[in-house]
Amino acid sequence: MIRAIIFCMLIFLLFGARETVGQEWFKGNLHMHTLWSDGDAAPEYAAAWYKDNGWDFICFTDHNILLEGETFKPIADESVLTPDCVDALREQFGDDWVETREQLGRLRMRLKTFEELRAHFEAPGSFLLMQGEELTTLGGSPHVNAINSVERIGGLTQDDIAVVTDEYMASIEAQAEAHGRPIVHFLCHPNWSDAVTIEEAIKIERLRYFEVYNGHPAVNNWGHEEHGYPTTDRIWDVVLSMRLKSDPGYFLYGLATDDAHNYHRMGRGANPGRGWVMVRAEALETEALLAAIKAGEFYASTGVSLDNITRNASGISFDIIATPGVSYTTRFIGTRRGFNTESEPVLCEDGEPKPRASRQYSDEIGVVLAETTDTSPSYTFTGDELYVRAKVVSDTPHPNPFREGDTEMAWVQPAIVGQLQE
Ligand SMILES: [Zn+2]
Ligand SMILES: [Zn+2]
Repeated sequence: MIRAIIFCMLIFLLFGARETVGQEWFKGNLHMHTLWSDGDAAPEYAAAWYKDNGWDFICFTDHNILLEGETFKPIADESVLTPDCVDALREQFGDDWVETREQLGRLRMRLKTFEELRAHFEAPGSFLLMQGEELTTLGGSPHVNAINSVERIGGLTQDDIAVVTDEYMASIEAQAEAHGRPIVHFLCHPNWSDAVTIEEAIKIERLRYFEVYNGHPAVNNWGHEEHGYPTTDRIWDVVLSMRLKSDPGYFLYGLATDDAHNYHRMGRGANPGRGWVMVRAEALETEALLAAIKAGEFYASTGVSLDNITRNASGISFDIIATPGVSYTTRFIGTRRGFNTESEPVLCEDGEPKPRASRQYSDEIGVVLAETTDTSPSYTFTGDELYVRAKVVSDTPHPNPFREGDTEMAWVQPAIVGQLQE
């Protein structure tokens, strides 16, 4: 008997714990803007904010541009780069760091390139910078982020949203292939100006990652369902269920990002620090982080921390790193096989379909399969689920919410039953 117990313990140590050996959690922001596009801070100011506030990695994703080449930004009281901002940079980084020049009759500051920023900020094992691009459709939606790109792609003019999004993703994948480097792409803020409907999202062939949370206050993460505009959680469940119906290999993972634009006044605009990803990887290195993201080894958070996440053939379980006095509600959400796939349009009072509204789908999609306030929640598959994911909502108010009344949350990636190993 004792021998059997020891044998089981050995097996557990060898195999049960194998997944997490040598792996650590790294905190990152994969969506941010600087003076290179429409952010209000120099890239070094933005990078310093994240480094000083405990982030492990960031990726610059300015609109349709990479941080390269010689670019000078006008310094003026009425400009986003004021003389006070430049003085503050001199104070923070030293007089030699700031480079100004008269050009076309105006005093200007040279923007630091990605390589200069890396040289200044990166420290092996403690802070990592990546470069990317937010492929921004001229005059509207959609927007797609490329993480770890090396060549500018740029935005397209507006066309069919699903087609444009897929073209962006195809160009990003082609660049990854051509350069032999990992580049992750994701759909940004599907609920910014009701940018992407559920039906469009279903049609985006290459869609595998999307922002379930974007910290920009102009984004409607929580939709306005009474008018027919779904939450990002609802988009997630419907797209996943409808795609899995015909493609059992499909997956869709959710990210939380800041989409930071405004670094100088907290509580106003799109601030840093609202939402992030926690990635479980072997090392704080670009390839390891992106491999982990591709494998779904990450969760999205606006303040709740998790550990020991297991998604395997028996179910999902994890631990919440609980703060004393805080209560956490975990909902395991999923869709069962054979669900009702029908949908109806949302109509205006005159009977016409509502512009840009998603269709309404059956309540058999995205069912709350279980709910618990335990701090080590677990869900065991009953055998009829297509997938199960988890969302944790705490009762701690978010310290700087994108929307008033928000509390801290976390999202665990879906465990897709047909794709799991024993
Ligand atoms: Zn955007
Ligand atoms: Zn953005």
